[in-house]
Amino acid sequence: MRTQAAVSHGPDTAFTIEDVEISDPRPDEILVRLTATGICHTDLATKAALPTGVPAVFGHEGAGVVESAGADVSGVKPGDRVVLSYNSCGICARCATGRRSYCERFEALNAAGRRPDGSATLTGRDGDEWSSFFGQSSFARHAIATRENVVVPEDADLLTAAPMGCGFQTGAGSVVNVLRPGPDSSLVVFGTGGVGMAAIMAAAALGVGTVVAVGLSPQRLTLAAEVGATHTLDGAVEDVVGRIRDLTSGGATHAFDTTGVPSVVRDAALALAPLGSLALVALGTAEVSVDIRDLIGHGKTIRGTIEGDANPRDLIPRLLDWHTPGTRASPCSSSR
Ligand SMILES: [Zn+2]
Ligand SMILES: [Zn+2]
Repeated sequence: MRTQAAVSHGPDTAFTIEDVEISDPRPDEILVRLTATGICHTDLATKAALPTGVPAVFGHEGAGVVESAGADVSGVKPGDRVVLSYNSCGICARCATGRRSYCERFEALNAAGRRPDGSATLTGRDGDEWSSFFGQSSFARHAIATRENVVVPEDADLLTAAPMGCGFQTGAGSVVNVLRPGPDSSLVVFGTGGVGMAAIMAAAALGVGTVVAVGLSPQRLTLAAEVGATHTLDGAVEDVVGRIRDLTSGGATHAFDTTGVPSVVRDAALALAPLGSLALVALGTAEVSVDIRDLIGHGKTIRGTIEGDANPRDLIPRLLDWHTPGTRASPCSSSR
């Protein structure tokens, strides 16, 4: 079928809207007509990493309407309004225990630029395109997805729901699934992009008592306060560790880094209270030095997370509920 996509031909070239051929959905696949997509840092980082001359279609926060579903697909039918998230196999040991973002086939299913059998879902003027990004490649009018990465929420506003497929899920999931702060906790969020803002909103929804946003943009810090931060710190001018200790009576019980900047990660660890926990999501510099005497002596935990440990089918409907005026949040965990 002919459709259109925003195609990248290299790190330094702009996206161009081109006619492409999308393959027919296989028995286990779903053809989705996209009506909205978010854009995530990973789209641009992957664009920058692919060599010039490889036509590629990115996008992994798609939402739209099901046009057709293969014979083996259950629970999804034409006309369903769906949100697309990361792909997973659904059957490996980690998927079977609800840890889908650590699927044993995560790389092959999300970042290979092909289906697992090596075939492309999109073909353009130069032949097969690097596609199937996160099991979708949503910078297009249509996408081939699978039952494993399609979420069917009730009454979703697709424009609102699309970014929940990755960025918002990652920020909110890191709070509700990984860090799990309570009303008496203090959470510091480093970075006020979409992921950080989602973490702040999730913390506010859970009723976390102290939520500190640390960022570099005054406008973003103002927005952070509007969406739930109880305090904001300008990382460029303030003694961040000292101020956090002041605001949290000696140290934060929880911290979340969305920057990947080594000095920020180091500050985040230092600003923790004894037995505090820090979660990392940003793939910045590969190596960061931290004071292990501080970690060991105070029983601090640092851990990484992919997609906020979220199972999209659990978390995305919950986030949409939270977005609905008048609904109240309750603590939750990712199950299957
Ligand atoms: Zn799996
Ligand atoms: Zn993403």
